[in-house]
Amino acid sequence: MAPMKYVSTRGRSPPLTFAETVLAGLAPDGGLYLPAEIPRIENPLLEAWRRLPYRDLAFEIIRLYADLPVTELRRMIERSYAVFDVPDVCPVRRAGEVFLAELFHGPTLAFKDIALQLLGNLFEYVLAERGGQLNILAATSGDTGSAAIHGVRGRRNIRIFVMHPHKRVSPLQERQMTSVLDPNVFNIAIEGTFDDCQNLMKRIFGDPDYKVRHSLGSVNSINWARIAAQTVYYFHAAFRVMEQTGAAKVRFTVPTGNFGDIFAGFLAARMGLPIERLVLATNTNDILARYFATGEYRCGRLQPTISPSMDIQVASNFERYLYLRAGGDAARVRTWMDEFKRDGRIVTGAARDGVVDPLLRGGAASEADTLAAIREFDARHHCLIDPHTAVGVHVALSHLAADAPMICLATAHPAKFPDAVRRATGRDAAHHPILDALESLPTRCQVLAADERAVRAFVEKAIGGSR
Ligand SMILES: *Cc1c(COP(=O)(O)O)cnc(C)c1O
Repeated sequence: MAPMKYVSTRGRSPPLTFAETVLAGLAPDGGLYLPAEIPRIENPLLEAWRRLPYRDLAFEIIRLYADLPVTELRRMIERSYAVFDVPDVCPVRRAGEVFLAELFHGPTLAFKDIALQLLGNLFEYVLAERGGQLNILAATSGDTGSAAIHGVRGRRNIRIFVMHPHKRVSPLQERQMTSVLDPNVFNIAIEGTFDDCQNLMKRIFGDPDYKVRHSLGSVNSINWARIAAQTVYYFHAAFRVMEQTGAAKVRFTVPTGNFGDIFAGFLAARMGLPIERLVLATNTNDILARYFATGEYRCGRLQPTISPSMDIQVASNFERYLYLRAGGDAARVRTWMDEFKRDGRIVTGAARDGVVDPLLRGGAASEADTLAAIREFDARHHCLIDPHTAVGVHVALSHLAADAPMICLATAHPAKFPDAVRRATGRDAAHHPILDALESLPTRCQVLAADERAVRAFVEKAIGGSR
């Protein structure tokens, strides 16, 4: 097998190896890296994969993208998933008319652990091989930050700087981040929104000299290793559900913010997994749901919701989708992205039948829909779901099909969002021992203005100070 090459969606950066893309994050031309070719899995290989336990499946899939020594890769996968509290990592269970793929069994109780535990191990390995240090800069609306921090805390040659919007993440999410006191972990609360945090990051990463001089790296969902790791649970969940129901294909509903999670599903479908439909579910920040209904991607105004990890307007991974949609035409992607910068919108258009993409449909849930979904799942199925999962479940129910069971990705444990659960059910029902223990821990965090210079100064001082 020739090593996989990674190319930028904007076509103006030299191709990289897997290890190089993992360290690079955003490409120097402002694009996102994608494999030059997406591997297609045919029978009998696909058949053979059906029986594999999660970790073996992860090894088979990730090795297609990561040209690393196989014993090392296997060791990293074992280490990453040993910290999950169930052996099959992402168990699937039936709840009424849908199946829930529980992606929240990692240390921070959200699906991002699945990718970020692996990414922490990959970073440590690559740095040990090539030498050098890595200073990770991340923007988070809540879950990415804590999952990233837990992925790299205490690891050698790595520091992590996580920006979250000040007072706009849940108190629990905040404590999950700021209670990690390892000396390589720096929490920054930005006075602004999540989009401000993401813009700060894009601007700092847009300065190639600065990036190289300070060995900056990224863990945001633009990192290809995260996408590859997330592809695994689509295969795993589809196999389990097909086995239980005898169906030949499945549907997925994905609560969506930055388009990272659902892009992994799109990739799984391209690789040959029989996904008949991918349903993209948003809260009232519905830029993506509107896109898949109209073919127009247009920025709206950001609204805070009870599913804060999906409160975004500009979905960073959407560019990867545009690239594949354009058949790998990077010039077209550059035009689209320029249009977006200039006019705040992109029009790709729809086919004559009004369908924007044969695989994807979008839908949005209001706050009332979200609360109702939590309440109904509790009352009818004795199953507590978190508000992000509830957005997905609400949208999924209008996309059921007789011959393709619906799998809803359950992206966070309900105990991470106790207020929403209490509002919906009237009970203080959502608890988890890991979160209950946080109450009494000391915390550390720096508040900064949404100002690029202030962030740079803080990062430089921290790097200088702990060298
Ligand atoms: C991050 C997150 C999402 C959104 O995932 P994207 O990859 O950004 O689309 C949904 N639910 C939860 C709980 C999350 O943490």
